[in-house]
Amino acid sequence: MPNQVQQHIHCSVSNCHYWAQGNMCHANEILVTSDSLSDTLPDRIDAPAAAQIQQTPVSTCMDSCCKTFVPKGSGKANVDGVINK
Ligand code: SF4
Repeated sequence: MPNQVQQHIHCSVSNCHYWAQGNMCHANEILVTSDSLSDTLPDRIDAPAAAQIQQTPVSTCMDSCCKTFVPKGSGKANVDGVINK
C-alpha cells in the first residue's frame, strides 16, 4: 500500500462552512488563487476544477484568497463539489 501524505490546512476564518475547532479546515480539498481571478469565477468553479484553471502568480499574500470559502449557513456549501472530511 503506498504511503499517504497527511496534510493539514490551518485556517482562522471561523465563519466558513469548512472551519473546525483548533483553526482547522475540514474541506477535503481547497483552491487558493489570486483575488483577481477569484472575482471573475462563479461559485461552482472551485478545487475540483483546479487543473483547468490558469496559473495566477501574485506579489504578496494579500493578493491571494481561499476560493473554497463558503459562509456558514449560506446554503451554498454544495455548489462547488467540495465536501467536509
Ligand atoms: S475552506 Fe478556506 S476559508 Fe474555509 S476553512 Fe478552509 S481554508 Fe479556511
